[in-house]
Amino acid sequence: MSFVTALKCTQCGHEYPSDERITICAVCDGVLNVTYDLSQLRRRFKSTELARRLPGIWKYSELLPVVNLDTVVSLGEGGTFLHKCDGLARSTGMQELYLKDETTNPTGAFIDRGTAVEVSVAKERGFKSMCCGSTGNLAASLVAYAARAGLSSKVFIPQRGGVDVGKFYQILAYGADVEVVRDHEEAEARANQESSHSRIISPSSPHFLEGVKTTVYEVCEQLQWTGPDWIIVPMGNGGHLSMIWKGLRELNQVGLLETNKTKLVGVQAKGCAPIVEAFDSNADEVSPCATVSTLSLDISVKKPSCGRMALNAIRESRGHAIAVHDKDILKALGDLARQEGVFAEPSSATSIAALRALMESKEISRTDRVVCVITGMGLKYPEIARTLVKGRTELENLLSQVEDRRFTTHLGKTKVHILHILAKGESYGYEIWKGLQEDHGVRLRIPSVYQHLVELKASGLIASTRSERTFDGRYRRYYELSERGKWTLNQLERLSD
Ligand SMILES: [Zn+2]
Repeated sequence: MSFVTALKCTQCGHEYPSDERITICAVCDGVLNVTYDLSQLRRRFKSTELARRLPGIWKYSELLPVVNLDTVVSLGEGGTFLHKCDGLARSTGMQELYLKDETTNPTGAFIDRGTAVEVSVAKERGFKSMCCGSTGNLAASLVAYAARAGLSSKVFIPQRGGVDVGKFYQILAYGADVEVVRDHEEAEARANQESSHSRIISPSSPHFLEGVKTTVYEVCEQLQWTGPDWIIVPMGNGGHLSMIWKGLRELNQVGLLETNKTKLVGVQAKGCAPIVEAFDSNADEVSPCATVSTLSLDISVKKPSCGRMALNAIRESRGHAIAVHDKDILKALGDLARQEGVFAEPSSATSIAALRALMESKEISRTDRVVCVITGMGLKYPEIARTLVKGRTELENLLSQVEDRRFTTHLGKTKVHILHILAKGESYGYEIWKGLQEDHGVRLRIPSVYQHLVELKASGLIASTRSERTFDGRYRRYYELSERGKWTLNQLERLSD
């Protein structure tokens, strides 16, 4: 049985039938929220009944827009741990600190909660394909759930603005139809065109947002149906934080939370913080930020589609919006991994950096009960680990070797032959040219050989040792394998074994 009553615009209040096939308000382009008959649920939705259900987002199905629970598309989203963190509490000076660890979702981010609901509704309504013009976590998650549902998916990825390498691998692995476009704006526009025959998913899709709010249902249930004093949430589009607020209010209205005193903190990175700027300047609207300069790519949203909703949520909860520096994000990232065993992506670590700043400014007191939401896992952006070992030479060297292994598989055949020739001892251009021909059957023009030598030298695989004047008055430059070249050759031999 569904308790859904309508789709309601969060901006102008206009209401639409719940099965209307729109994703934003037709009157004002505002974000739409699903509404429920909460008074009906007040009598039915009991904590004792919920305690008997299996963990995961679907245990709260009465407050989700899916009609038929037998056909939901699930990869096991939600049901994530709420870790009590004594180590991190000590280092931040808190008495009671929790992490809501969303890194353990099926594709490694909280987003899966929303995608599961969105794809389930799309399938229920007979859509055969899904599309999206968003980089990063949302695209990776959509592609996985579409595969699980047996739907096709098309993803537009901007060349400019970047996508974290881990997320890109995920998108490719799940088998989406991927098209690379110029920038984020073009990606969105192309996905919109595609939506004439395919269900589009965006960070402000109403069904997607409904799934996302289950983060806070779980937090409250894990804290025995009490709200924490603070929940600190990273903000990109602002949807997660907005829906955490909607979720808290719903729990209060159905009687599961006696009072709703939780204050919300929305965090952005200093290099792109339009919602924080609007909060600080007391503005009603969020103005887009012009540039992005932070390593937290997934929350670098110049024009946050749920920005206004997030601003309202923070203000209604009497909370804060705060921007944090990259260096503090990196410190938090290292602390999360080393003190709590949680490898988060940089965006997620902003919540810990914000906690530190708010404790320093005494907004949060050490006796408050705080939940930091860790939104996504570190393997999405594996290079970040490099920053954590900066200055530790032996680890940096080992890391280079591991990264070289990737590189060696892309080295062309001719260059590998040259490395083999140099493995026998130092040599010079003409001799290498002869060796290529006689020992490896490779016929090249001499300038090409020199070009290969220049490139090998630039990548650090060979070094020039000395120059010698020949009998005809010309200079001859000698080369030898560098340590890195020797290692690379060694790896190549192991790979071909
Ligand atoms: Zn509207």
